[in-house]
Amino acid sequence: EANAGILGLQPYQAGKPIEELARELGLDPQKIIKLASNENPLGPSPRIIATLEAAVTEVSRYPDGNGFALKQALAEHLDVLPEQITLGNGSNDVLELIARTYLNPNTAAMYSQHAFAVYPLATQACGAQHQCIPAIHWGHDLEAMAQAITEHTRIVFIANPNNPTGTWLSEQQIHSFLAQVPASVIVVLDEAYFEYVEESLYPNGLSLLQQYPNLIVTRTFSKAYGLAGLRVGYSVSSVEIADLLNRVRQPFNVNIMAQVCAQEALADEAYLQQSRALNRAGLIQLEQEIRALGLEYIPSVGNFLCIDFKQDALPIYQALLREGVIVRPVAAYQMPHHLRVSVGTEAENQGFIDALTRVLE
Ligand code: PMP
Repeated sequence: EANAGILGLQPYQAGKPIEELARELGLDPQKIIKLASNENPLGPSPRIIATLEAAVTEVSRYPDGNGFALKQALAEHLDVLPEQITLGNGSNDVLELIARTYLNPNTAAMYSQHAFAVYPLATQACGAQHQCIPAIHWGHDLEAMAQAITEHTRIVFIANPNNPTGTWLSEQQIHSFLAQVPASVIVVLDEAYFEYVEESLYPNGLSLLQQYPNLIVTRTFSKAYGLAGLRVGYSVSSVEIADLLNRVRQPFNVNIMAQVCAQEALADEAYLQQSRALNRAGLIQLEQEIRALGLEYIPSVGNFLCIDFKQDALPIYQALLREGVIVRPVAAYQMPHHLRVSVGTEAENQGFIDALTRVLE
């Protein structure tokens, strides 16, 4: 029989694939609008396409298992040591490495209600105990989380900003939380959407690493850098923690294409700026249109927005699918009245709003 933790697992529900819906509706996939996975609507930059083409001849070789060149580039970019970096097959991979390094059935991991689904999944897969702390205003209640730490707590996962709610925590809030956490507890600050956030009080987790050696900051190339399909993310931590994570990871966990494209993406400042500008404009557009429809949403600093329909949102999700628009139900996050929509291009956002208007008529 499988491990008890595995028997209790519910698989991660990803956004519905475009091809699948196109086939169901008998539509050209080009006609489908997918705003379901917080992907970058810009698509890959020409520099990434050229990098992929140049790397094609290398695929008969294994990638560099240590990711030497990418770690060097990241270390320079982030002003940290290469030895502090752990690369992953997406930041999901790094989150799992952390769970496998620190959790077992006699320990517990803590996370917030409505927080990113991989925290409970990784915890459950290790057979560890769950400490799910009720949210406050849809975000993390750090005071309650600090109070709830027990001698069993090994990891606290914090998403800043959080997916799917888009809520964020200030430098002062993170600081006072870290100051209350025993040094034996690992705090994971998941900054998957870091590059999008513009609030002046939003902290750069890396600036806290020196003061808090139990902190691990995770980031990704999947969102603002536009490389979701290549699967590459990373953590920055103390050298000691990175050494432990390195023992657990698969020998070649980040593929050749991902490594070279991530380096190129780091250098492609123009693409990043364009992504951020498009997201800022798209968020404002969506917020205005949603308000005009008389609907409420949770204010978000990410590249997505949760809309509150004040009723079971699943029929609305399904009606949108019939219109060729894929968004994300978040009932599994204990948010059955909300749907999460990712920020798309101006045309995609408008297509979503038009479909939603028809559905709500
Ligand atoms: N953390 C958060 C908060 C996320 O929303 C996501 C993407 N859904 C991830 C981590 C993982 O992304 P990836 O594995 O593509 O880096």
